[in-house]
Amino acid sequence: MPTFVRTEKCDGCKGQDKTACMYICPHDLMKLDKDGSETGHAMKSYNQEPEQCWECYSCVKICPQNAIEARHYADVVPLGGSVQPLRGSDSIMWTIKFRNGTLKRFKFPIRTTPEGSIDCYGGKAEADLANIEKVGFFNHKEQNGFREGDPSELIRK
Ligand code: SF4
Ligand code: SF4
Repeated sequence: MPTFVRTEKCDGCKGQDKTACMYICPHDLMKLDKDGSETGHAMKSYNQEPEQCWECYSCVKICPQNAIEARHYADVVPLGGSVQPLRGSDSIMWTIKFRNGTLKRFKFPIRTTPEGSIDCYGGKAEADLANIEKVGFFNHKEQNGFREGDPSELIRK
């Protein structure tokens, strides 16, 4: 079931070229309606193809205004209920609303290093762009004891 934008909360990410929800959506579904010609709400984002939404929650989590919500399958979250995350720099707070009005909150840590400090290629050999179109690891070097496959080593019967 798709996400939707609460237009009263969305600020269009202050008119940046690419909004946070457009940046993060793995399916390229979120779109900023700059002049309001598509939705009647200028400078508000919307899910342009709801039937394609994976409900991955990436846009819900990244929205700085907490303006995006997901419509859930009724058997998971019955009508009137909601599941809403609020992301902090080191944790995420989930607010579960039951349809009888009961609220529950769960806070989970989401990282063990300071925000912005991850060096995902740290300690890895540089990529060799001359080999970029060849199969194998991005740097064409052995990594952590693993190396790229060698078809001559395949056991064929
Ligand atoms: S990330 Fe949130 S505030 Fe920014 S454009 Fe999308 S819905 Fe609006
Ligand atoms: S829930 Fe995931 S797939 Fe759906 S619009 Fe948001 S980021 Fe895209």
